[in-house]
Amino acid sequence: MTSAPKNRSTLSAVVKGGRGLCPNCGKTRLLHHYLKVIDRCPACGEAYGHLRADDAPPWMTILIVGHIVVPIVLIVEQAYQPALWIQFAIWPTVTLALTLGLLPRCKGIILAMMWAHGAEGSERA
Ligand SMILES: [Zn+2]
Repeated sequence: MTSAPKNRSTLSAVVKGGRGLCPNCGKTRLLHHYLKVIDRCPACGEAYGHLRADDAPPWMTILIVGHIVVPIVLIVEQAYQPALWIQFAIWPTVTLALTLGLLPRCKGIILAMMWAHGAEGSERA
């Protein structure tokens, strides 16, 4: 086990990763083709291809989307009792849109945290 690299700010890396940018320099995209991790940053040369976030980004996305959608569904149901067909049209669409929007950001955050703390990733060990 290696110790966390020096001179790596977790907060700065997470902010950049959440924006989908290289956690080191913030100049290039960390992901391509929606969720594929770049092998190496073309701007700073930092390697990311060995990092494997596995199930953490989907779990993080589910946690966030669930905490956003479920209370809104319950509040709308209590306040307005919309017809069932309206709810079937709205809530799956909102859930899908939030999930697809947040998943790459969550993956960027997880990869940035792994990078900031010097995680080896499962492909190099
Ligand atoms: Zn970079």
